[in-house]
Amino acid sequence: MIQKAGTDDMNEKLVQEIVRRVMADINDEGGADGMHGVFSDMNDAIEHALKAQEKVRVMTLDQREKIISAIRRKTNENVETIARMGVEETGMGNVGDKILKHKLTADKTPGTEDITTTAWSGDRGLTLVEMGPFGVIGAITPATNPSETVICNSIGMIAGGNTVVFNPHPNAKKTTIYTINMINEASLEAGGPDNIACTVQEPTMETSAIMMKHPKIPLLVATGGPGVVTAVLSSGKRAIGAGAGNPPALVDETADIEKAARDIINGCTFDNNLPCIAEKEVVAVDAIFDELMRHFEEENGCYRASREIQDKLIATVITPKGALNRKCVGRDAKTLLKMVGVDAPADTRCIIFEGEKEHPLIATELMMPILGVVRVKDFREGVETAVWLEHGNRHSAHIHSKNVDRITEYARALDTAILVKNGPSYAALGFGGEGYPTFTIASRTGEGLTSASTFTKRRRCVMTDSLCIR
Ligand code: NAD
Repeated sequence: MIQKAGTDDMNEKLVQEIVRRVMADINDEGGADGMHGVFSDMNDAIEHALKAQEKVRVMTLDQREKIISAIRRKTNENVETIARMGVEETGMGNVGDKILKHKLTADKTPGTEDITTTAWSGDRGLTLVEMGPFGVIGAITPATNPSETVICNSIGMIAGGNTVVFNPHPNAKKTTIYTINMINEASLEAGGPDNIACTVQEPTMETSAIMMKHPKIPLLVATGGPGVVTAVLSSGKRAIGAGAGNPPALVDETADIEKAARDIINGCTFDNNLPCIAEKEVVAVDAIFDELMRHFEEENGCYRASREIQDKLIATVITPKGALNRKCVGRDAKTLLKMVGVDAPADTRCIIFEGEKEHPLIATELMMPILGVVRVKDFREGVETAVWLEHGNRHSAHIHSKNVDRITEYARALDTAILVKNGPSYAALGFGGEGYPTFTIASRTGEGLTSASTFTKRRRCVMTDSLCIR
């Protein structure tokens, strides 16, 4: 009896699934819960993204650009909702800065203008190198910038003629699903297909593995910590790895110390230190060390932690196994201090202290407004210390100095994808600095700040002995 009931139940489920798939095929949609691009099954998500890509790849660049304009517009319309949702779901970051990050992403992420052609013409004809789509890209996104990464990846990938399937961090699935639905609505409003960006209702390591192994996914893009970057690089497929950082900011005696203090705290506290490019520790030469600390404390809302509070913070924010306590990542300084029994003033922005480079709150990438400051005797020792602290991630580093030779030496020694001189770290994202933004900085695989062209393959097209009209 029990077995029969189980079989009936299975048959019923099978019939329902077949009906659902047939209806989805008829309507060319399959979104779960009425959400566009959201599926219960990863294979389904990939199949639908594939169908959408068949349409996108034959679109004119102008048609792709219309979809991208609609994504920009809808992001700006929904900016506050998405920012709030991200903070509420993940418990990380702050709404005000997330609004700024989304506006930046919507307005400045490069679109089809980034898809360019190289040409050689001469006696033997004309050769073009064009940027063609890969197809359906598999993207893995972090909890720290969930919707920002989905929007900026989608704009770039669609500009390149691709569609995309996301496997987001489970802690940010609600925000991601909302964003993916919005992106597909934008496409439909602009006359494009549904499912240009897809995902699953319940992202897990299993759905990630299905995506990584799927024969119809030619390119993987991972934005996250070292584990996920290693996973995509081990997949046997082409992979772009945007991994972890631990950016040091070096301050020497030639810098404008008051400005350096302001820039560093503005960069470090932006979205509660979640961006991977944000200042995670400071290296200061002895001659200006005390002056810098004074500016931090007196003008920039910093709380100087005693050794006792540092020890309590270590025990609170780092687990005995050396991992980060997720309940502390992306929290503001006042909340972190409350966790260790300190009732700090409401306007406290950052926790500072002096420590050795090996101090756990300095050597570890924390993603919290806790800024250890390492005292070094001179610039040379400062460079060595900063190289050590960056741990070979080659991600981001910052410097405050007026000496061009020193800036050059530092840049060569650190060898990072991003180096900001005399400004807050977010200037690297085109926020108070020149250049375009991205939330996928391919430090480990070397593409640097990704954009539409990163998500294309180079194709050479040769016409012999014709079309040269010189
Ligand atoms: P995380 O590494 O915990 O997770 C990132 C994503 O990878 C999530 O979707 C997660 O589910 C997935 N994941 C983790 N391990 C995996 C594995 N072995 N196989 C498959 N998927 C796996 O990181 P997070 O906390 O979400 O984000 C913070 C980290 O990401 C920090 O280290 C930060 O520096 C880095 N980050 C880098 C960039 C960049 O552009 N380089 C941007 C944002 C965040």
